[in-house]
Amino acid sequence: RQPLVTADNLTCHFPVRAGAFAPKKVVRAVDGVSFTVAKGETLGVVGESGCGKSTTARLLIGLAPVTSGRMLFDGQQLGEELSMRELRRGVQMVFQDSYASLNPRLTIEESIAFGPKVNGVDPGEARRIALDLLERIGLDPGRFAGRYPHELSGGQRQRVNIGRALAMRPRLVILDEAVSALDKSVEAQVLNLLADLRRDFDLTYMFISHDLNVVRFISDRLMVMYLGEVVEIGPAEALYERQAHPYTAALFSAMPSMDPEARTEVPPLAGDPPNPIDPPTGCRFHTRCPFAESVCAQAKPRAMTISEGHQVACHMHDPASGHGKVAA
Ligand code: SF4
Ligand code: MG
Repeated sequence: RQPLVTADNLTCHFPVRAGAFAPKKVVRAVDGVSFTVAKGETLGVVGESGCGKSTTARLLIGLAPVTSGRMLFDGQQLGEELSMRELRRGVQMVFQDSYASLNPRLTIEESIAFGPKVNGVDPGEARRIALDLLERIGLDPGRFAGRYPHELSGGQRQRVNIGRALAMRPRLVILDEAVSALDKSVEAQVLNLLADLRRDFDLTYMFISHDLNVVRFISDRLMVMYLGEVVEIGPAEALYERQAHPYTAALFSAMPSMDPEARTEVPPLAGDPPNPIDPPTGCRFHTRCPFAESVCAQAKPRAMTISEGHQVACHMHDPASGHGKVAA
């Protein structure tokens, strides 16, 4: 499948100051990530908070500045053939907090029609789009069109946010913890809705979540991030079967319903990730990795392909790295 998004060594660094007189430091929120999102697929993105998932998403929608690297959307390079404005039209984002994303003074029909109107669609057509979308997101227009956000449940509000995103006719929808605040039963309904909409509207998803069970349900491929870097990426089933990177293995070992047979023998993660202002040298995971050797603190691991489409950046998988426990 053709890539819709190609990220090529993207970085997003931003300056911070701890206090008025403290020296400026640089947060390496995203630090040289490369990946693609194929047309029509769902790429799941996982990692602890602060690993750069949300910043990566914000880069793709133009809400965070690209410090270096290239980004292509449908073959067109951002800043060259493709303007930020055009990029923003093609990408929409849905966030966790369904209430904060909606204007409390607009009815849900008005909320969904708002984006198209601002973009020059005439009011009658915008209204037709909104009513049609209400139907598609499972909210009967006759009952719901005139309601206000506070009159809806969390799940209904999140359906409206999805409707608002789709009203802009995006190619890519980024879902950042979009079902995380919902009850389990509602979450399942919204996930099924998302799967239907992806097919019906020919969408591509980037699905960010801390919940590996949810990610498994919806993703075709999975990308694992640690401290601003991609440590493992591959077909979701391959990753659920075999976590090649010790960090991925540790994340999965904490997963409640994981089949014990399939579980990699790695203790769950202890402590917090190090500060992205001053990340560890070499492999950034070496301060927490049970398999770390001296090479790990010295050299940054290369991304190695271990099976079709499955890449991992860990010295254990690189026969040339000198790591003692070379994977068979
Ligand atoms: Fe662990 Fe070394 Fe692999 Fe990093 S490169 S994950 S420290 S074994
Ligand atoms: Mg986040």
